[in-house]
Amino acid sequence: MTMPDHTPGLLTVVIPAYQERLSVPMAAQAISQVLKEAGIPFELLFVDDGSGDGTWDAIQDAALLCPARGLRFSRNFGKEAAIFAGLASAEGDCCAVMDCDLQHPPEKLVQMYRLWQQGYQVVEGVKTDRGRENPLHTLAARGFYSAISGATGIDMSRASDFKLLDRRAVDVLVAMREKNAFFRALSSWIGFQTAQVEFEVQPRAAGSSKWPLAALIRYALTNIAAFSSAPLHVVTVLGVLVLISSLVLGLHSFWKKLSGQALEGFTTVILLILLIGSILMICLGIIGYYIAKIYEEIKDRPRYIVAERCGGTQNAQ
Ligand code: UDP
Ligand code: MG
Repeated sequence: MTMPDHTPGLLTVVIPAYQERLSVPMAAQAISQVLKEAGIPFELLFVDDGSGDGTWDAIQDAALLCPARGLRFSRNFGKEAAIFAGLASAEGDCCAVMDCDLQHPPEKLVQMYRLWQQGYQVVEGVKTDRGRENPLHTLAARGFYSAISGATGIDMSRASDFKLLDRRAVDVLVAMREKNAFFRALSSWIGFQTAQVEFEVQPRAAGSSKWPLAALIRYALTNIAAFSSAPLHVVTVLGVLVLISSLVLGLHSFWKKLSGQALEGFTTVILLILLIGSILMICLGIIGYYIAKIYEEIKDRPRYIVAERCGGTQNAQ
């Protein structure tokens, strides 16, 4: 198979930024420098995810100094929404997505771009390690990624949002209508010619991480529900298990009744009521969770609202 030959095409770097006043100028400077030196035509596209700390001013300043544009959300819609908004208004022949805090090393962009030039349509940044995280976080992350990996059939344990995508892959992703889009998994799910580039997670350039525990748990649940119906099957499995145990207990009680010692099973009855009751509640909760997600999708609200744009031609959609 012959790979398509790409003459240097424009690279759009999508950078979601939330409360990153200090990181924006650093990221703009570091990324521009690397790409200029490598002779890669580029535009930076910062997406201000409803920050309240002057991130938007920093983006406007950056747009004066280097080829950068900015989108500003009307409020915080989350990193996934910011990534998709960036992809939707990117003009490049290929688009990279990277964090604003320089935890994704900009030098790797050059390697990713070269792979794209060789004909790869999805170039994934893969973590060599999970950075400085506490053991509990690592354990939770492992559980989360094995659920997602099971659902997608792709090993996600070292996956990141650091990716470079060909225009065709970007168009496919942007055309997806799902509200709970999980970029990291969807960009693998779409297939295409894929290459991987390893990178080491760097320490944050400035500011602090925006993922309190509650937000992480919400993020994990949303994305598991978006990608997998396994929890619904758990409901069925639990039902079968309860059915089997009630058959056994039923036979047991029947035998007791026949042999004239029927009164004894009081504790068993209480335990059974509690057990079945709680399993039913959990099952209803799981089903309810999916119904809530379906409701969200069906309302068809926009994933994000862009309040302002800056830099570039201003009229690009
Ligand atoms: N981010 C965002 N919206 C949010 C939270 C984070 O756009 O609601 C951006 C943030 O500015 C950064 C990237 O997502 O560019 C990764 O966030 P962070 O560094 O806080 O996460 P961590 O690296 O700790 O996973
Ligand atoms: Mg970070």
